[in-house]
Amino acid sequence: MTKLFNDAHDFAAEALAEFAALNADRVALVPGGVVRARRAPDGQVAIVLGGGSGHFPAFAGWVGEGFGHGAACGRVFASPSEKEVLSVARAAAAGGGVLFLPINYAGDILHFGAARDQLRLDGVDARMVAVTDDIASGPADARELRRGIAGSLLVIKMAGAAAAGGMSLDEVERTAVAANDATRSFGVAFSGCTLPGSDGPLFAVPAGQMAVGLGIHGEPGIAQAPLGTASEVADVLVDGLFAERPPERGRAVALLVNGLGATKYDELHILCARVRSRLAAEGMRVVAPLAGEYVTSLDMAGVSVSLAYLDDELEPLWLSPVDSPALTRSRALARPAEAAAATGRAASAGPRAELAPGSAASVRAAAHVLAALESAAREIGAAESRLGALDAVAGDGDHGAGMVSGIGAARDAARAAVDRGAGAGTALRRAGEHWSDTAGGTSGALWGSGLAAAGDVIGDTDAPGDADLLAAVRAFAESVIRRGGAAVGDKTMVDAIVPFTDEFAAALSRGLTAAQAWAAAAAAAQAAAESTAGYAASRGRSRTHGERSVGTPDPGAVSFALIVGSVRG
Ligand code: ADP
Ligand code: MG
Repeated sequence: MTKLFNDAHDFAAEALAEFAALNADRVALVPGGVVRARRAPDGQVAIVLGGGSGHFPAFAGWVGEGFGHGAACGRVFASPSEKEVLSVARAAAAGGGVLFLPINYAGDILHFGAARDQLRLDGVDARMVAVTDDIASGPADARELRRGIAGSLLVIKMAGAAAAGGMSLDEVERTAVAANDATRSFGVAFSGCTLPGSDGPLFAVPAGQMAVGLGIHGEPGIAQAPLGTASEVADVLVDGLFAERPPERGRAVALLVNGLGATKYDELHILCARVRSRLAAEGMRVVAPLAGEYVTSLDMAGVSVSLAYLDDELEPLWLSPVDSPALTRSRALARPAEAAAATGRAASAGPRAELAPGSAASVRAAAHVLAALESAAREIGAAESRLGALDAVAGDGDHGAGMVSGIGAARDAARAAVDRGAGAGTALRRAGEHWSDTAGGTSGALWGSGLAAAGDVIGDTDAPGDADLLAAVRAFAESVIRRGGAAVGDKTMVDAIVPFTDEFAAALSRGLTAAQAWAAAAAAAQAAAESTAGYAASRGRSRTHGERSVGTPDPGAVSFALIVGSVRG
């Protein structure tokens, strides 16, 4: 939903005027669009691009040295008029002729084409090359029918570099044709955009599906497919592009992973990693890749991948300096070493730390630690979505996911330690360290420090007796309280931990076995966790929305109760 506007009719004009004011060092507003703030050198070919508004930073953001000379900007998703295109072209022209580079939509071609014809009548040499990168929008043997989408950035950047290099209009036009031939894009959409002032999106995609072959004017895709993981979506896009132009070993390729507006940077980066590894696996050399929002469609959710297969002429044009609001390169990029960028974090786990073997008794106890973590991980896995929902009431909704990843890492670390002959203390300490390293978040840090503290008490020498178990439970509680600073009643996991600890001590002193005392303590923890529903949070992330949490138990207290409840003596 586009929420911020004054009068929907003025949306594009108001946005463009402020864009120009904010970027006054680079662009100047003229009737119909923007041109460079600094005139290009006399005799330079002027690149004039443009299209409808609503695609920010396309197209006004592509004006600057080494890129476009002017951008004609229409209303939202509507081609600029011939008059607007002409106005921008006349302001941008520097004496070397004008190359119009619209992206291929019927309205744009009509208006840019008419402007070209008018300029010629005025005695100015003018040409037009339409960008046709979208492989989903027409057959390979009729590329002139295809739409232009995000790959237009690659084509126009290379043409802009050719103009900046002082090439003649003939040469710049030929370069633009070559760059367009080399460039292909393929995209998917997850939801449509809403025009300013209208109440519904232009199209909808059913949950769990994606529309394959997006357009950038709110056109739905040409087919629907199930939405997979980021890597699966990347594979669909790369496979589609490769089906049309097979990968070429040793070939340099410019890559743009483009977000359509509501698909955010982290998602684009995850998908981009897969695209780059697919290209690397084919022996292709990715040069100066981009991932970000370059051609949006208001608030549409979707992503496209564009590839330009470069040769010795195009590669330096792609790498050359550029200074525009949307893209800057202060100096020409060297051919990058793709290998250096492809290192994964997994490889940085470091050498295997030394591990002192435990005594036979402690090794047996370590097996119990592992079994406890395994059953707790199962319990938390089954409760993941419930814990997330509890955290969403007044927190950030990540408690289920955080606990699942933390306890999974803890279990795996304990298993690795046990496999290498560790004692119970080391198994617990390793579990705690990996929990906090992996899960992050408040609960991750607190569980991590608590388990590590308990491990230090248990040690690797003796089989832990009842007194050791109690001391370990107390060390856990003290560590959580010390690190988190919460007291009973603040509505945190401490509200379950303290009754658990007290009941465990009391039950042992009543003469119960450790297993019986643990069960009694777990019951006390569960009751205490439930009763946290009765009051407001005053610690942690939920504090800001404390009153909203009344009626819902604290997620960290609930997960603590689940974990101790799953452990059988
Ligand atoms: P985050 O708050 O970083 O998103 P989680 O959602 O994983 O972390 O964990 C939230 C839980 O952490 C809360 O429900 C609460 O039980 C616990 N918590 C938050 N702050 C504290 C604190 N200062 N001391 C003890 N526990 C806390
Ligand atoms: Mg949270």
